[in-house]
Amino acid sequence: MREILKIPHDAVIPDVEEVMKLQGIPSDSILPPKITDLYKRAFSIFIETKDPKGLIGEVSATDLENILTIAGGNIINSVISSMFKKGTNLALFVFTLGTEISDTINNLFAKNEFALGSMLDSIASASADRGGEYGEKFFLNYLRDLGSVSPDHRALMYSPGYCGWDITGQKKLFRYLKPGDIGISINESSLMTPIKSISGVIISGKKDIHYLKEDFDFCKTCTGKNCRERILRIKKEE
Ligand code: SF4
Repeated sequence: MREILKIPHDAVIPDVEEVMKLQGIPSDSILPPKITDLYKRAFSIFIETKDPKGLIGEVSATDLENILTIAGGNIINSVISSMFKKGTNLALFVFTLGTEISDTINNLFAKNEFALGSMLDSIASASADRGGEYGEKFFLNYLRDLGSVSPDHRALMYSPGYCGWDITGQKKLFRYLKPGDIGISINESSLMTPIKSISGVIISGKKDIHYLKEDFDFCKTCTGKNCRERILRIKKEE
């Protein structure tokens, strides 16, 4: 299976709380009118400029092992390399919000409109996370339709740049999936264009394979601890 996904726009609308968290504002805060106004202006630009698209392609464990192998033939020490073989089905996935919103963010910063640019950037980042969740649901539903998964299976995405997987891993992922088909490219520094794009591997398997312990060396310096929220998200579905 390799498929370009037309992603419904309402599937990538983030919650205000998620956006404010990226702005460093705790979820229980009462937002000052200045922030609310800024959010409304940025959200209106977001609605006008987003163009969500995804591309998903199944991958074998052997091919994924090749993607995760670094120069010298060693597999990288990362969360994904430690657990992908426990998954029963694997897929590469990329998502983008398109060129217009990415250019708009860059232009706002170039014009020194930092507050508006930063708020739009946070909305787009939270929206890109929703795009990842859409890919996870799509893959799980696809497998359910095939009868390939049991009710206790869950699918989660793991991305280069996180949890021990170096950002340069994105280049190999691109060679396999070819996201140019939805207008995403990658440069020598492994940065994607449009900037508001994400990539990763979706692993489907029994839900407990995703219940990670924070006992990797790189967890000591991890500030986001996003794995906790992801585990909570799975547990809420139980
Ligand atoms: S603590 Fe950080 S680095 Fe470790 S698994 Fe969780 S998100 Fe990944």
